[in-house]
Amino acid sequence: MTSRTDLVEELMGRFPHVPREAVLKEDLLRGGLAFDDAALTDNEHGDVKPKSYFIFSFDHRTLPELGTAALRRPPEEIVLTGGPYGLRRTVVSVRTNPSSPYRVGTDSDGRLRLFLDGRPIADVGLPPMPAYYRHTLANGKSVMEVAPTIQWGYLIYLTAFRVCQYFGAKEECQYCDINHNWRQHKQAGRPYTGVKPVDEVLEALEIINRHDVDRASQAYTLTGGSITSQVNGLAEADFYGQYAQAIEERFPGRWIGKVVAQALPRADVQRFHDYGIRIYHPNYEVWDKRLFELYCPGKERYVGREEWHRRILDSAEVFGPRNVIPNFVAGVEMAAPHGFTSVDEAIASTTEGLDYFMSRGITPRFTTWCPEPTTPLGRTNPQGAPLEYHVRLLEAYRATMDAHGLSSPPGYGPAGPGRAVFSVSSFMDTLPSTES
Ligand code: SF4
Repeated sequence: MTSRTDLVEELMGRFPHVPREAVLKEDLLRGGLAFDDAALTDNEHGDVKPKSYFIFSFDHRTLPELGTAALRRPPEEIVLTGGPYGLRRTVVSVRTNPSSPYRVGTDSDGRLRLFLDGRPIADVGLPPMPAYYRHTLANGKSVMEVAPTIQWGYLIYLTAFRVCQYFGAKEECQYCDINHNWRQHKQAGRPYTGVKPVDEVLEALEIINRHDVDRASQAYTLTGGSITSQVNGLAEADFYGQYAQAIEERFPGRWIGKVVAQALPRADVQRFHDYGIRIYHPNYEVWDKRLFELYCPGKERYVGREEWHRRILDSAEVFGPRNVIPNFVAGVEMAAPHGFTSVDEAIASTTEGLDYFMSRGITPRFTTWCPEPTTPLGRTNPQGAPLEYHVRLLEAYRATMDAHGLSSPPGYGPAGPGRAVFSVSSFMDTLPSTES
């Protein structure tokens, strides 16, 4: 039987122009990794920054199935270097999977290493606890709960609304566990604020701004579930926009403001811009028409795919095409039972979507699908998509970008192997090096 090591090395050999770091990172993101108890954190009381569960669970098991990792959280991210593949510094978001062939533990010298099939393949660095996580808001809430940072401290992730109004099997996106993640944290008795008050967000940002003396934090993302009616009397553009307005009034230009929201009509998009948002992520999720209709039933019913795409193009007139960066979930194209059965077909479809947007100056980006077990697609595809798909997508993404004369999108920090901090896919690790 082919081992995971054989698979990884075979793909590294077949695609020598894709950085080895990216091959490993994609495999860790699609399949998760296990942790020895010694590599877990002491939650908010230790020296290592814990996993904040900033929007989705991004785990391969439910919390009760994670064992010690449910009590002592794993780190938010790990950084890999060295080992037999000579890895340059690679930041990887942590997706826990107790049965993964990848395991973080200590070697006989007491050093933290990443093991694959029992063999050490990288040195592991853990994110230090940021000074701002050691402070709480006046009401006792933690900064990690209200304004967690990811991407090695680059991005403040503000999930203002922790649930989605696309609710239940007929509306929720079939790969998304936002609503389940909210439920499981509530059931575990963890603090998990459904709607974050603007004042709390400002107070948490004040603490970050005061203690982030190196100014590692460069951007914030406002996001959460879709709003099909209202939250606190506000529709989607005004609900998410109110946070940007307050942040920009209090800390003008301190961070790049981004919003991940639905593809809204042009007047609403203009309001985002007027509130001070500079980058807009109207995620199109999956390109193929049939799969979009099946996987995003709520979006299809309320907006529809063609209208969604038209609104993305419209928003480029408001934000400028460089600043419209719609996401897709890389890998769901190949999910059984409805997805493509060959990597060739899946890559061809995804590339058609990249071409569509990139030919208009809009640069999509992608996150690597994590098949969370409580989602319909995660249940039927616990292994996720084939690693070959993910590696070839990196190749296709860069080639399409080159063909249209585009470069790495703004708001993601530096690009290039050894430099990238974007942690939930390796597209930034695969592009030519930049400073920021
Ligand atoms: S719109 Fe879909 S992907 Fe976004 S939060 Fe709602 S269910 Fe999840």
